Amino acid sequence: MAEILDGKFISQQIQDELYLEVNRIKEKGGKIPHLAAVLVGNDGASETYVAAKVKACEKVGFNSTLVRLPETTTEQELLDKIELLNSDDEIDGYIVQLPLPKHINEHKIVEAVAPEKDVDGFHPQNVGRMALNLPTYLPATPYGIVQLLERYKIETSGKHCVVLGRSHIVGSPMSILMARNAFPGNCTVTLCHSRTANLKEFTQKADILIVALGKPEFVTADMVKDGVVVVDVGITRIASNTTKSGFKLVGDVHYDSVLPKASYITPVPGGVGPMTIASLLVNTLKASKKEIYS
Ligand code: NAP
Repeated sequence: MAEILDGKFISQQIQDELYLEVNRIKEKGGKIPHLAAVLVGNDGASETYVAAKVKACEKVGFNSTLVRLPETTTEQELLDKIELLNSDDEIDGYIVQLPLPKHINEHKIVEAVAPEKDVDGFHPQNVGRMALNLPTYLPATPYGIVQLLERYKIETSGKHCVVLGRSHIVGSPMSILMARNAFPGNCTVTLCHSRTANLKEFTQKADILIVALGKPEFVTADMVKDGVVVVDVGITRIASNTTKSGFKLVGDVHYDSVLPKASYITPVPGGVGPMTIASLLVNTLKASKKEIYS
């Protein structure tokens, strides 16, 4: 039976450490880390994610600013706001919550964020630095997974890591991080996507399987080998007659059937999700200390 990789617990541990760090900064009269979040429009899921990020800032003692802009905001108006955030010395780092309304070019916005304030790690300069294994802001979800593996001391060197999904925010950076010469890392990595032929042949060979598809309960017991380490990034809300709300959150892995075969597994919820928020806070502290760009 697998040991649970408890993201909720580790995320809290990291937030407790950040809280102590903020107190030390306060005692020395230093600058309190300040994260801003820009939310354009009224997307329900984005509202929830941004609210959770702002709340997490408050809990660890960071300052936070929520910039709400209407759905009708033009690309130029958003670029003007970004310019202000880039030059505001009080703001250490900020995120522009994605997705943006369709009339705004996301690439243009991501590239307008000053790399030294890009605590989401989405700017091409920071992605390039990640690929070169230089100090940078790692994107929050992959960074969260790295920290989870690190804190559980999961052996990764020489292992075969199979990543399912090649999105720019999860799968692709995850494959880079697991292949680099570092701990966690030093894996032989296979990156699979929707065009991969005979997917099961790859998943069955995985020592570490990281799944970011957005396909509920896609990975079943027959697709994995005994002793596999499973990291399930997927979160999908599906109808359920076992909960009061009528909905439940499930991952991309069929948890109940894979659990007995795995050596470690992340639950959904309570696995990768909470780690994503903790990582954003760690990046914000790095920004405030000017650890990456001084
Ligand atoms: P995405 O941008 O939709 O990418 C999905 C990837 O899965 C694509 O690369 C796609 O391949 C691949 N794929 C789809 N169907 C496939 C199949 N049948 N076989 C193999 N590959 C397949 O998704 P994402 O943004 O990475 O998110 C993935 C999941 O993680 C979602 O459930 C999302 O909600 C969740 N998520 C969670 C967190 C967190 O903090 N816990 C953070 C981010 C995302 P192609 O490239 O060929 O289309």
